[in-house]
Amino acid sequence: MTKPPDRDFDFEERLYGEYGLENRAKLTIILSAVLYASFLFLDWVHAPRELFSLFLYIRLAVLGAHLVLYVLLGRMKTKRGYAQIAIAVAIFDLLGISAMIYFLGGFTSAYVQGLYIIIMAAVVALPLSFRDASLLFLLIWASYVIPSGINLPSGRSAWTDIITNVFFLTSLLIMGGWGVYFMDRLRRRELRSRIQLEETTEQLQESNIKLKSLDELKTQFFANVNHELRTPLTLMLAPLKSVLEGRMGKLTPTFKDTLETMQRNGYKLLKLINNLLDLNKLEEGKMRLKVRAVNLVEFIPPLLSSVKPLADQKQIRLYYQHPPHPVELTLDPDQFEKVLFNLLSNALKFTNKGGKITIYVEEKDRAVITTVEDTGIGIPDNMLETIFDRFSQVDGSKSRAQEGTGIGLALAREIVLVHKGTIRAESEIGRGSRFIVEMLKGEEHFDDEVLDRRQEDLPIGLKRRTTDVDEPRVQDIVTDFRRLQLVDLERVDIGGARTEESKVHDALILCIDDNPEVLKLMKMLLADEFDLELVTSAEQGLKFLREKGPDLVLCDVMMPGMDGHAFARAVKADETIKHIPIILVTARTGAEMIDEGLQAGADDYISKPFDSTELKARIRSQLRVRQMESELALANKNLRMRTSDLVDQQRSLFLSTVKSLASAIDAKDEYTRHHSTRVTDFSLKIAGKMGFSEKELGDLELAALLHDVGKIAVPESILNKPGKLTQEEFTLIKEHPVRGEAILSPVIELKEIARVVRAHHERYDGTGYPDRLKGREIPLGARIMTIADTYDSITSERPYRKASSHRYAVKEIIACSGTQFDPEVVQNFLEIAGTFAQQIGDDQSAKEP
Ligand code: ADP
Repeated sequence: MTKPPDRDFDFEERLYGEYGLENRAKLTIILSAVLYASFLFLDWVHAPRELFSLFLYIRLAVLGAHLVLYVLLGRMKTKRGYAQIAIAVAIFDLLGISAMIYFLGGFTSAYVQGLYIIIMAAVVALPLSFRDASLLFLLIWASYVIPSGINLPSGRSAWTDIITNVFFLTSLLIMGGWGVYFMDRLRRRELRSRIQLEETTEQLQESNIKLKSLDELKTQFFANVNHELRTPLTLMLAPLKSVLEGRMGKLTPTFKDTLETMQRNGYKLLKLINNLLDLNKLEEGKMRLKVRAVNLVEFIPPLLSSVKPLADQKQIRLYYQHPPHPVELTLDPDQFEKVLFNLLSNALKFTNKGGKITIYVEEKDRAVITTVEDTGIGIPDNMLETIFDRFSQVDGSKSRAQEGTGIGLALAREIVLVHKGTIRAESEIGRGSRFIVEMLKGEEHFDDEVLDRRQEDLPIGLKRRTTDVDEPRVQDIVTDFRRLQLVDLERVDIGGARTEESKVHDALILCIDDNPEVLKLMKMLLADEFDLELVTSAEQGLKFLREKGPDLVLCDVMMPGMDGHAFARAVKADETIKHIPIILVTARTGAEMIDEGLQAGADDYISKPFDSTELKARIRSQLRVRQMESELALANKNLRMRTSDLVDQQRSLFLSTVKSLASAIDAKDEYTRHHSTRVTDFSLKIAGKMGFSEKELGDLELAALLHDVGKIAVPESILNKPGKLTQEEFTLIKEHPVRGEAILSPVIELKEIARVVRAHHERYDGTGYPDRLKGREIPLGARIMTIADTYDSITSERPYRKASSHRYAVKEIIACSGTQFDPEVVQNFLEIAGTFAQQIGDDQSAKEP
């Protein structure tokens, strides 16, 4: 609520208006006039005779001003105007008194007391603002001090009077000022709170009106719900019941199963509507109890028998402890039965397999206590009160383990309360819960009206609520009233996962939903077109996915444990199954939900209730997309394979071309015939000694074979020249490593080999050609090849010299170790040099030069 601004014009108006300022101002003028006139008498007694007529004129003038102001007052439009008129009256009064004080001798004049009267009036009669009052008080002070100052008397006694009077007047003004300030603040504060109060009241009134109309709407709504929901539901359930009872012919098992699903879910809906209606009635105080005396000890066993089959299914034991004698209670049996059924069905719902449920009946002086105790999951302390509120659940999350709406306990509490009883819960997490219902004995606590209703009793056993006389009598149709109470707990068998193990259809679809009825529905809708696997949890689904790799997954979103989104994330994070399309199925729609699902990796989304045509269409479209994707992937793979075949072919074609080139060179030079082959042989031997891998050996073989391929560009006349070469001829020959590289480098795979070819005339000490590489800058292959090349050159005949012996070649190579050759490679060469000698047919009897 906003604070009203003080300076606001409306606020000021309101402030003055609050105190009937017009009347006050009127009264002030009249009173002031009367007093002013009557003070003539004082003039007569007090003032010197010669001043009387002067004072008379002064008073008449002031009275004249009163008259004018009185007339003006009637014309004022604003409340503040009234205050200003009142101030003006005071000012005229002041002027008059001030003049008289002057004539009566200034400071010592007794007429100063007239000013006191004005001060009093300003404080008491007029609700002046502090500002206005301060101004007025300043004027009052001035109107005493100024005329007196002009007419200053002389003498010591005069001074004491002056000081006394000024002292009193000033003190009075200060007190008055303080009073006005305080009152002004008080008035403003009070007005502010009043305005706030008015606003709050106004808002409250508005909300009240809204609430009333909402309440009317709600009542109207519930009345409509009664007719619009229960009637059609009844009209569905009644014929369904006849059909199921076989009154319309024999049913096939599948048909019967389907109809039972429909009936069960119809019951669930009916129970929910009934509960809501009951709750509403109870809360509005419109529930009419139908009490009668009941022996509680005998009342409970039939209820226990009803839940027994469900308890057996979950292997939960039921116990009942009660006094040996009858325990009589007056209550509405139908309603109390609902309370106990709610407690029992909760106990069954929240107790795990192998647990225990006990009902105790205990008799006290004035009350009977019924306790439903279980060994279930328990309820946290902070929820023990709130679980009795409408829609409250300990676990209301989307992944909760149990279905429910959270109205069962709210209804139970309301029913107990109309019986003037109490209900409360005690629990220990993980150990169990206990619901304690305390009902009063006797019937004094019931209104007479409730008790009178007993006269209208219907025969016992006809389970019909007599309270809703004009509502459709649902219970007449759903005669199995107890089944209706427990329908939520009924377990549904999905009838075996995949009936036919063998593949019948093209696609296998995995359906995951914690609700077996939904799985049954999926089976009914899809089994004619797809093979199905039905599982009730995402964990099971994931396992199946990894083992069997179905073609598609239909997965519910809200499930206990791993929910649909977590499932989608898990699948998409697993390389082996991420390609399998996932369609999420959910009852919760909305852009956010869909977005979350798609972000988790789902391929599509469909909302419940789904239409079978749409569901199938979506499945088919996902399967088609997946089919196309895998066809595309296959085509891609084939294409890649073909491309690599082609590259291989091209490479080998190139190699054979280059090899024939190499042999062409060998052929060009009759002296060096088979030189390349021998260099290759020697190089491979050294490399083998140095531990080259298969691939490295392959590369070196090529490099060695092709090392002189650049010589193709050197004329035969130069190559075969017997005499010494000229400088130009030598330069031309020296170009062959670069030319060789240029011939080989167009083929990507030969790049490394080309590098070795280029470097096969480099020297270890950096004085070789073409790049003057040094030491390990020279590729290892080239370092090996130079040794093999030199050895072969020395040991084979050249146009310009004869062939030398193995030993000589070895000696030469040793001599050049560290200058021309890499000492490490030389070392390796030496270790196997013996085998070279055999190869060239030089068995130690060297032909010394
Ligand atoms: P609903 O069972 O439909 O959710 P109820 O009003 O019957 O609604 O129960 C409200 C909540 O109280 C339940 O959701 C559950 O969390 C808690 N509750 C009730 N009974 C038990 C019980 N016996 N053990 C554990 N929790 C219980």
